Amino acid sequence: MGTVIDVQCQNCGAQRQYWLGIGQQFHDPEIILDMISKHHRGAAKHALKQSPGSEISGAYELAHCPGCNRLASVKHARVELGEQLLYEADHYCAKCDERMELIEEEDVARIPCAKCGGPLVMDEDCCVHWD
Ligand SMILES: [Zn+2]
Ligand SMILES: [Zn+2]
Repeated sequence: MGTVIDVQCQNCGAQRQYWLGIGQQFHDPEIILDMISKHHRGAAKHALKQSPGSEISGAYELAHCPGCNRLASVKHARVELGEQLLYEADHYCAKCDERMELIEEEDVARIPCAKCGGPLVMDEDCCVHWD
């Protein structure tokens, strides 16, 4: 089950919602492979094939662009064998092409507004559940 978080700038009032978490469709490995960009799908498949017992998982995660401070919810996939991370999807900013970093919901507070640099607040009360 996923959640929706509401992020608002305390300075300019810019507001956006981000969908996070795991949806029903993410229980099917084929669908997870499908959501990885074509360019990277081969690497994920390779990791799965090379390591018997490895598993692929996918979820919407919150990503931050260090270049322009844009936040986005990205479809993130990783292949793991037990505790070992074999493959992890990369995400690039749609605006400036910087490599985005995955962040936790609570990290939103340390990220400045992409528009005005003001402080962001996350609304935790709104949590709408999806799927
Ligand atoms: Zn702002
Ligand atoms: Zn960017």
